[in-house]
Amino acid sequence: MSAPSLTYQLLTVAVVVLQRQMIHNNVGSRTQWNTTYDYIVVGAGTAGSLIAGRLTENASTTVLLIEAGGPASVITDMPIESWNIETGEFDWGYYTVPQANAGQF
Ligand SMILES: Cc1cc2nc3c(=O)[nH]c(=O)nc-3n(C[C@H](O)[C@H](O)[C@H](O)COP(=O)(O)OP(=O)(O)OC[C@H]3O[C@@H](n4cnc5c(N)ncnc54)[C@H](O)[C@@H]3O)c2cc1C
Repeated sequence: MSAPSLTYQLLTVAVVVLQRQMIHNNVGSRTQWNTTYDYIVVGAGTAGSLIAGRLTENASTTVLLIEAGGPASVITDMPIESWNIETGEFDWGYYTVPQANAGQF
């Protein structure tokens, strides 16, 4: 069996990328909100998403997860693109002091 043509492969990648971007763009389309929540988690980053996910494992618990940033992008789905998102719209531009035991490669 021969490999799919380059055109077919590129079309497949384009469709997958488009699908993922549409999923990202759909975030925030919710229009109905509760007036109260059991928990409010601020920041839908690594820790906030994990905590909100764990809290909602109990179906009777209501959780509001607030995120200040915009929707993710197909760029943020690709680890190899991490160098390109450090100074763009996905970066708050905060700096830290030197850490003795962090950022060591
Ligand atoms: C380019 C890059 C590559 C990395 N690669 C790796 C890796 O390969 N492996 C690894 O383990 N770690 C990696 N890290 C580190 C990892 O991403 C962070 O350590 C981790 O995401 C920190 O999680 P956090 O929940 O503390 O903060 P974040 O994930 O930064 O989440 C904080 C969230 O809070 C939101 N927020 C901030 N202020 C407010 C506000 N006032 N109201 C609402 N929301 C707010 C922010 O928009 C953000 O979404 C990488 C980091 C960078 C920058």
